[in-house]
Amino acid sequence: MEVSTNLELDLSQIYTCPCCQMETPHYLLARREKRVGIACSRCQTISLVDADLLESHQAWWEEELRQILSSLDEEHHFDEDH
Ligand SMILES: [Zn+2]
Repeated sequence: MEVSTNLELDLSQIYTCPCCQMETPHYLLARREKRVGIACSRCQTISLVDADLLESHQAWWEEELRQILSSLDEEHHFDEDH
C-alpha cells in the first residue's frame, strides 16, 4: 500500500478537457490501478487518463494558481500603498 495519492478524496480534478479545450474541473468517476476515468463538469466529456499524469497536472495547476493568487496579492498591496 504505497499508493500515496489523495485522488479518492478529491471531488474534482483540474484537467484539460479535450472538448472544452481548457482547464476544467473534472469529477472522478472510477479508478482502476493507474487509469482514472474523469468527466468534465462543464460538458460531461469523459477522459481516461494516467493517474500519475493527473496528479502531476493537478500539482502544476495548484502551483499556477498560487502564482496567480500571489500576483493578485501584490497588485492589491500596490493599491493599498497608493
Ligand atoms: Zn469539457
